[in-house]
Amino acid sequence: MEQQEEIVLAEQVPAWDAETEIAIVGAGGCGVTAALAAGERGASVLLLERFRRPVANTARSGGMIPAAGTRLQRAAGIDETPEQFAENILAKNGRQSDPELTLHLARTAPQLVEWLIDRHGVRLELVTDFLYPGHWTYRMHSPPERTGAALLADLKRAARALPSVQEIDEVRVEALVADREGTVVGVVVNSTRREYVRARKVVLACNGFGAHAEMVRQYCPEAANALYFGGPGSTGEGIRWGMALGAAVAFMDSYQLHATVAFPGEILVSYSITMAGGFHVNQEGERFADETRGYSEHALDVLKQPGGTVVLVYDERLHRLGLSFPDYRACVEAQLVRSAPDLASLAIAFRLPAERLAATMAEYQAARERGRDRFGRTTFADLQPPFYGIRVTGALLHTQGGLVVDRHARVLRSDGQPVPNLYAGGGVAAGISGHGAGGYLSGNGLLTALGYGYLAGQHAAATLRAPTPAG
Ligand SMILES: Cc1cc2nc3c(=O)[nH]c(=O)nc-3n(C[C@H](O)[C@H](O)[C@H](O)COP(=O)(O)OP(=O)(O)OC[C@H]3O[C@@H](n4cnc5c(N)ncnc54)[C@H](O)[C@@H]3O)c2cc1C
Repeated sequence: MEQQEEIVLAEQVPAWDAETEIAIVGAGGCGVTAALAAGERGASVLLLERFRRPVANTARSGGMIPAAGTRLQRAAGIDETPEQFAENILAKNGRQSDPELTLHLARTAPQLVEWLIDRHGVRLELVTDFLYPGHWTYRMHSPPERTGAALLADLKRAARALPSVQEIDEVRVEALVADREGTVVGVVVNSTRREYVRARKVVLACNGFGAHAEMVRQYCPEAANALYFGGPGSTGEGIRWGMALGAAVAFMDSYQLHATVAFPGEILVSYSITMAGGFHVNQEGERFADETRGYSEHALDVLKQPGGTVVLVYDERLHRLGLSFPDYRACVEAQLVRSAPDLASLAIAFRLPAERLAATMAEYQAARERGRDRFGRTTFADLQPPFYGIRVTGALLHTQGGLVVDRHARVLRSDGQPVPNLYAGGGVAAGISGHGAGGYLSGNGLLTALGYGYLAGQHAAATLRAPTPAG
């Protein structure tokens, strides 16, 4: 192959500075899970992370891992199969994702969750106090803190306990090294100087391109004007390296927005408040869509309202539900949440037309009694004073398109053959959310991050010992 900007030819490496069996680019959910799966099999793993601070999307997330058929679900009396879960994902994305890979990830999820708990002491519990948009039942597993920061901290603690895993922070991987046939043989890193690390396998776990404004404009133009709310490391190089090696890409126009990021403040407001009965009004005091159909697609409607912001209206009971989330507590501490003894006072607090807001509330309550509103919403709450409100906007959380991978998370070329020695997961890999903003089912992000990480780590370690494994 000819030398490309993002690929260094092996013959041009002056000298190898270090050597490992498996190099993992990025220490977010995908990377650390891959390190656990490979490291527990004895493979030597170098986990290379660009930042010291935990700014990975995994750390910013709600830490909610979806899985059907876990013992936690069964203990809660929920009888759901991975097949039903896969069907839920496919129904949400309009059957656009690869059905076999979707089912494979859904079948991997319960093993993954129980393995994280049993083998690596990751604290996960089933979330049963609210249903995520589009979910047919309770299947989110999260740490008690309900934060991705707690999840990533647990994953990293487990990785540090494995002697063959070494994490190095504050090194940016700058390029892949490949031979003329396109076989990946190492990575180029840059901390204080450019160094070459020889590796027998490379796992791309450096997320998508949400932080790369030009790529967002090119592939996801509808999201280009949204506030970016993901981590700074999602600059798309993993995808570009794969493309330079001839890998196929899919769903590059797929992304997830979130409809309730506090504005100002830029703090995520848990969607549980909306799902449990909160509604959104624009500056005219009017509702404009079914808020519960999904926070990603709803965010596009939020962004279309005057000023691109709306007010989330709710009551004391939903405020208390919100308080179970650290981010919401941060909104309260930052005085972004306003409470008012009646609707008229809430209207004044947000400069909304009081009569119109009262009419909107009356319409909402009437729809609650009928069981359906004119937008198709079917879940409501009997909202009672005192009322609460917070101004929110739609934000881009992450992209979901990327390199096509197989059931072992191996990166595939357009002819279906693997790029030798290269794996990808999380935001680097093509997701299971279809095209655009509307196909994302909550949890697809961490499912493809941790799921593909788990599969990649297992396969990479296994093939170190057996060079030509089946399938
Ligand atoms: C606010 C928010 C809430 C979310 N909540 C949920 C949720 O509850 N459930 C869910 O399923 N999904 C959620 N998501 C989506 C989910 O966080 C992501 O899909 C998932 O974390 C992606 O994991 P990853 O390992 O691919 O990427 P990341 O977790 O972002 O990790 C990638 C790492 O690679 C590093 N890196 C990047 N480039 C380089 C380089 N060149 N060299 C070295 N290191 C590099 C980055 O610094 C980063 O640490 C949420 C996202 C956001 C933003």
